Amino acid sequence: MLLGTTITPSDPPAGHSSPPGPDEQGKEDRQGVWMVVKVRGATTGDPRQMVKLWLVRVMQVSSQWRAVHQTSLQGSPNESGFMVNKRAMYEPGAVMVCSQKRACCVVSMGFAAIIAVALIVAFTKPGCPEATYIGEPVPGFSSRPTHSPPTTPPTATNGEEFPWRDVRLPFHVRPLHYNITLHPNLTTRLVEGHVTIKLTAIEETTAIIIHGHELNITNYSLNKKYGKPIEILKFLVYPPHQQLYLGLNEILRRGSNYTLKLGFRTSLKEGLEGFYLSSYISAKGERRYLATTHFEPTSARAAFPCFDEPHMKAQFFLSLVREPQHIALFNMPVQETLSLNDTGLVVDNFEESKTMSTYLVAFVVCDYKSVSNMTRHNIRLSVYAPPTMIGQAGYALQVASHIFDFYQDFFGVKYPLPKQDLIAIPDFGAGAMENWGLITYRETALMFDGNHTSSRAQQGVAVVIAHELAHQWFGNLVTMSWWSDLWLNEGFASFMENIGTKAAQPGWAMEEQFLVEKMQPALALDALLASHPISTPVRDPAQIESIFDTISYKKGASIISMLESFIGHKMLAEGLQLYLKENEFGNAATDDLWAALTKVTKKHNNELDIKGIMDTWTLQAGFPLVSVTLQDGRVSASQARFVVCEENVTDPNEPLNTTIGYRWHVPLTYITSEQPHEQAMYWMNLTDVEFEVGKDVKWVKFNVGQRGFFRVSYDAVGWAGLISLLRNNHTALSSADRANLVDDIFTLVKAGTINGSLALELSLYLKNETRYIPWHTALEHLFQWVQLLFNYPAHTQMLQYIHTLILPHYKRIGWNDTGTHLERLLRSKILSAAVYCGDTHAIQEAKRMFHEWRVNGTFIPPNLRAVVYSTGVRYGTEEDWRHCWKVYNSSTFPSEKKLMLMAMAKTQNPWLMQQFLEYTLDSNKIRHQDVLTVLQEVSKNPSGRLPAWRMVRQHWAQISQLFGQGSFTIGSIIKAVTSTFTSAFDLGEVESFFKDVSVGSGERALAQALETIRLNIQWHEHNLDDVSHWLDQHMTQAETQVEVDPQ
Ligand SMILES: [Zn+2]
Repeated sequence: MLLGTTITPSDPPAGHSSPPGPDEQGKEDRQGVWMVVKVRGATTGDPRQMVKLWLVRVMQVSSQWRAVHQTSLQGSPNESGFMVNKRAMYEPGAVMVCSQKRACCVVSMGFAAIIAVALIVAFTKPGCPEATYIGEPVPGFSSRPTHSPPTTPPTATNGEEFPWRDVRLPFHVRPLHYNITLHPNLTTRLVEGHVTIKLTAIEETTAIIIHGHELNITNYSLNKKYGKPIEILKFLVYPPHQQLYLGLNEILRRGSNYTLKLGFRTSLKEGLEGFYLSSYISAKGERRYLATTHFEPTSARAAFPCFDEPHMKAQFFLSLVREPQHIALFNMPVQETLSLNDTGLVVDNFEESKTMSTYLVAFVVCDYKSVSNMTRHNIRLSVYAPPTMIGQAGYALQVASHIFDFYQDFFGVKYPLPKQDLIAIPDFGAGAMENWGLITYRETALMFDGNHTSSRAQQGVAVVIAHELAHQWFGNLVTMSWWSDLWLNEGFASFMENIGTKAAQPGWAMEEQFLVEKMQPALALDALLASHPISTPVRDPAQIESIFDTISYKKGASIISMLESFIGHKMLAEGLQLYLKENEFGNAATDDLWAALTKVTKKHNNELDIKGIMDTWTLQAGFPLVSVTLQDGRVSASQARFVVCEENVTDPNEPLNTTIGYRWHVPLTYITSEQPHEQAMYWMNLTDVEFEVGKDVKWVKFNVGQRGFFRVSYDAVGWAGLISLLRNNHTALSSADRANLVDDIFTLVKAGTINGSLALELSLYLKNETRYIPWHTALEHLFQWVQLLFNYPAHTQMLQYIHTLILPHYKRIGWNDTGTHLERLLRSKILSAAVYCGDTHAIQEAKRMFHEWRVNGTFIPPNLRAVVYSTGVRYGTEEDWRHCWKVYNSSTFPSEKKLMLMAMAKTQNPWLMQQFLEYTLDSNKIRHQDVLTVLQEVSKNPSGRLPAWRMVRQHWAQISQLFGQGSFTIGSIIKAVTSTFTSAFDLGEVESFFKDVSVGSGERALAQALETIRLNIQWHEHNLDDVSHWLDQHMTQAETQVEVDPQ
């Protein structure tokens, strides 16, 4: 997401301030004018010195005023003169609790306002907002067609018409270089800022449109060559599009450079986006504050005015003012730290960044500790964490070093920055963010302790690190041109995360795990009509947020994996290297990737039409169902779009996809009973195919290893052959193929194309299944059925049936947390399933361990904790729940805190459940970042489903405000609390509630949630009788078996 020419720190600035106008002459005693004079005086010198002078003067002025007023209000001068003491720095409340201090604040703010007015007056001369604007057409504004322009003219904050209607910026100027100075005050939460942007004109224009969101612009000016000012006739703000408009009195010439300066003031919010405030509790129990950023996709504009689109790449130079006890981090290392004379503050000047997009800029002010090492390629790699957690940073450092070195070799392009920082942020909306050289993480995604963290959570740390490090090339070095191609970033990072993790942890079977983590969830979502094509047009921030979803990430990764399966790993790697080299420091679109891959495949005499093949997968929503029949050794395979919900709903994507007509280039791989180890392949090039496999063939398994992004429906004979194979000799197929058959058959039942009893017949083979991947797949589907049967008599029988499947494995696996990584993952799943199925031995064992832990603090092995805590709460007392709440609040292990949140959601006590839900509205109890987890977990608990839904409805206004209309969380919340509904009544309720409220970026998620409820209703209509009947019959036999085989 970034481009441009360089200004080195020793270069003179391109622009100069205007000579003092007549109005300024008599105002030398006003502080704002003094600053202008100083800045002007410095323009021929070092720009950093200039910034320093400006800052020193601002601090001195503020310090004098505050000292005077604090003395008069409190009777004792403040020691530092400007800042209050260190404790207050960490504790904003310290300022707020004292009315005298509050008064002091108000006075200071009043003074700040005076400075602001002075600055506006000083900086805007001779341009003046009151000047008349003739309103002639603006050259260059036709460079991009507008999309759905407002029907009524947009109105700026001053009531005037805002002359630019498009939510996207015109491309008549391009930023080359930003020089940003920020002083975030962690006590008052105010941020003072100044940005100087060097621009070049792409087309002639008399206006500049730039992004700015909730910034109070205090001054602005524009200079051309040799510092000559350009008069700004009009300055307008249009909040709906987060745009600022500067109307000029002369035309900017194509190819010429200009310098735009903007002073601004904003505040640190308690949100999860932009430049925001986070905090943690120190070992002494004090709340410590940090200021941090999260800009992707459109929040850089909330921290400083900028051209906030990914193709508007530039270089960034940052100066950050801080207190000496803090550290400041940026995408680049600190170049120098200067003391701001008697203010007690320091300023860090960072090295200039590489050419990059705005959304990848990041900075943090905190008091963290770090651990570091040098990679084999000589990059300094550091992990930053709160001092209380730095002991948990070792694994991240080790695994990141390994993966980083691996990627340098794999991508064949040198990492261009001198350092890479990974930092844990206590309040973090996403899992992590790939800011170039300063990756921010949710604590659970970075911290690991061998005695406390489960294998599953450990894998999570490695995978997220591998994902974000892959972005340093995919996304950061080469950025998608526009968000419509978000999948280029996210699909690749999601694909690479398994490859990177495998390099660091070869024993984790990451290729197999790809199926259950990526391929299967993507197929499940993409079978809905409310899915969307991978490449999809988006424009405004809410639309952009809405595509940070399973399709961009997991379907994106899956189709790359499919591509790898037919061109080979080596060819893919070579193509990716070429793509990165050809586009480094620039932007690229999907077709650029196909072009690079085509060059490489051609070089190797492979004439595959990569673009033609892949367009069918990226430009159309959904995927094909390949229906196969085998007769006399001849296979007939036909393709049609697979839509899981039968109800005739209009496809929202239909107008986009008519050119290809829902046909795909399908690489139809297969193995047969005659050649079980030799994979063959037929291309279904937008067509159906027929081919011979041999008359003696007893079974054919298509889509080998589930590498293709499609489903296969066999005829009755085909299924019978495969079911018989699984039940008699399941290891004849790989575990990936076994998982694939389970996934396909259960999904086809959902779609109503085959009977539920057939899937249950297949599932009987699980009694012999010992591998993690097929079990993961099977348990997902089986427990979905449990949920669907919740209000029916077959519910109990379904649980009993699953119990018969897992019982032999429960006994085999036991409660010792030992074995390989996959064995530990499987143990965790089987034990939880046993408890859920009501296995008395499992429940007693978990309750016993919980009790000993609560009363005596007895150690519980990490991989048993999830099941022990959950069972302890589910079958426990209010006291047990409160103990978990206490641990949640006091633990310094993020993985433990997460387990506590999940366990507390298992309570059967209605009052505790209600209280827990209400805690989500109070960030002092449950951080905003964890609200989604609580709602998801409570909704999974049958006793919590309705309370969660009621809570969300009751507090929708607050929730909607909390997560914004443009956040991907809002869609996830809607899905979490509604997707488990199964009746027409529920559907009606959800529809009628959301008919009257705005869901912003959650629009598509809502459509998917509604379709899921319809699908659940459909499942009942098709399967309830058939499944109930099968369970009835089967369980009668099983009961006899359990009696003779007691636990
Ligand atoms: Zn990503």
